[in-house]
Amino acid sequence: MRILVVEDEPAMAEALTWGLEEEGYVVDVAATGEDGLWKAQETGHDVIILDVMLPGLNGYQVCERLRDGGLWTPILMLTALDEDLDQAEGLDMGADDYLTKPFSYPVLLARLRALTRRGLRARPAELRVAGLVLDPGGRTVCRDGAALDLSGREVAVLEHLLRNKGRVVPKVELLEHCWDAAYAGGPAVVEVLVHRLRRKIEPAEGPAVIRTVRGEGYVIRDEP
Ligand code: CA
Repeated sequence: MRILVVEDEPAMAEALTWGLEEEGYVVDVAATGEDGLWKAQETGHDVIILDVMLPGLNGYQVCERLRDGGLWTPILMLTALDEDLDQAEGLDMGADDYLTKPFSYPVLLARLRALTRRGLRARPAELRVAGLVLDPGGRTVCRDGAALDLSGREVAVLEHLLRNKGRVVPKVELLEHCWDAAYAGGPAVVEVLVHRLRRKIEPAEGPAVIRTVRGEGYVIRDEP
């Protein structure tokens, strides 16, 4: 899951980034409305956290422009109690939910989970293949009912492959969806991670879950 945080206060942006990365999300940060607009349009995010009070374009304007531009990524607006702004206005502009600062972190996470579950279209509650079950809300992966010990990034890569079941996913696409924009490395890092992921998820016998398509990328298929 990739999140865009549009927040101009560095301490707040940093705390959000740190906390969300701990949860296994990939986080991009924008410090102005214009930057947020650009990053949202440039990269496919699963959800956007959008502060209302921003220098330049405010959160409402960013939200309105994104919706006008046909981008329907779920948006969680952050407002402050002392801001003389109507929260209903954000919802009118096409935001999906709002949270008043200061907010409790568990509440933020619960709202994000609800938004990503709701998604743009109906998302499957769980993603499954060959005895593996990935719960996108809880960020957990089980094999035959037993939880597997995967890192946040490993879950992200597995999730992206599962969401694109049957399609060969190029390494560069995995890089784009599962590593943040500041990461400048090449596809070799994807190979290393997939290698590690396979050691954790592949069954002792039977067909491989993640298959390599030489020169193209990786694919998960239902049928052996
Ligand atoms: Ca602000």
